[in-house]
Amino acid sequence: MSKSITILGSTGSIGKSTVDIIRRYPQQYQVKALTGNQNVSLLAEQAKLLNAELAVTANETKYAELKELLAGTSVRVAAGFQAVIDAAKEDADWTMSSIVGAAGLLPTMEVVKRGKTLALANKETLVCAGEIVMQAVKEYKTTLIPVDSEHSAIFQTLEEKHRNALDRILLTASGGPFREKDIAFMEKVTPEQAVAHPNWSMGAKISVDSATMMNKGLEIIEACHLFNVGVDQIEVLVHPQSIVHSAVGYKDGSVLAHMGMPDMRTPIAYALAYPDRMESPTAKLDLTKMSGLTFFAPDEKRFPALRLAKECQKKGQTATAVMNAANEVAVGAFFNRKIGFLDIVSTVQKVVEMSPLDPVSTIQDVIRVDNEARKTANNLLQKG
Ligand code: NAD
Ligand code: MG
Repeated sequence: MSKSITILGSTGSIGKSTVDIIRRYPQQYQVKALTGNQNVSLLAEQAKLLNAELAVTANETKYAELKELLAGTSVRVAAGFQAVIDAAKEDADWTMSSIVGAAGLLPTMEVVKRGKTLALANKETLVCAGEIVMQAVKEYKTTLIPVDSEHSAIFQTLEEKHRNALDRILLTASGGPFREKDIAFMEKVTPEQAVAHPNWSMGAKISVDSATMMNKGLEIIEACHLFNVGVDQIEVLVHPQSIVHSAVGYKDGSVLAHMGMPDMRTPIAYALAYPDRMESPTAKLDLTKMSGLTFFAPDEKRFPALRLAKECQKKGQTATAVMNAANEVAVGAFFNRKIGFLDIVSTVQKVVEMSPLDPVSTIQDVIRVDNEARKTANNLLQKG
């Protein structure tokens, strides 16, 4: 029996890796919907390659172009953000959520509500609405498989039968391109330097998040929601080689670590085959070729995003939603060369301090908080 698949954000880094796996097994997967944003030529190419039923661009002004690119095929075409949400409602057995940022929240919620399998790369969904989303996952009996490499590693090593014996989660971090750089250097880095990640090839926003280590902050929050643990049970461990993807420590002293090459096609293949395992095109890990695996405690002075994320998680979902939205605005301003690299996290910190943190209970509340935080961040940046 073939599995029906939807990829939300198929034209991005995770989306392309997902396409690269499923294109190898045309008999096993039948593609319902692919969604993208600006890059409609890639979207059309993917839709043809995979013989998709539906191709959607989030950008309404790209409708005619996409339609033209897919003329003469049987692929249905739609455009606009609502069309992305509608694509998420299509009845696929397995859906990859790999839109970047809080834009992934509403489409991901639609996937959850269908009660099938959600492969979740879009960590911002859990950062801004983790409690609401995890509650819905329970209610709709959705199978949620994390795709973020660390969370896939934890998912694979955290034994349900030994949950009571869990001592801590060791969340590994590469440390990003500025791991060894001082503040004076970081003050002057350019977007080009910030996106040049040493181990992983990723989308632009997550690359900057890795450089500020906000990515690890987002991942702490993501792990709290996915594995129902408190921030104090999570230890961040800088591991520059990105071979140990994370580990779980038990009360008896055992530490179960997950290893592999830094290639997202491994966690994607894990999510795709779950509960089985499948071949993936990832290179095999050869430990004899590893010159030495090293581990360090993170430096929260140079990377204040870690402390900020933990504080926000302790304050609750409103604070993490504000933090996430402010980070998206600040990263955008950094790309536009309006602010410096170190201003990213300091802006986020200020926006969190300035924002009222009334509790949220619905996705609409979260979206309101997200919009307000974006306004606050933009006002702050305009004042300079
Ligand atoms: P990317 O920027 O390469 O791709 C983003 C995708 O989202 C594209 O398909 C784009 O068209 C789509 N998109 C962007 N804005 C949109 C909008 N407003 N509405 C609808 N679609 C929109 O990003 P990526 O690196 O693939 O990351 C995607 C998600 O996966 C992020 O949440 C990221 O944190 C997470 N993730 C990525 C990696 C990685 O290796 N790239 C690893 C772990 C987790
Ligand atoms: Mg990760």
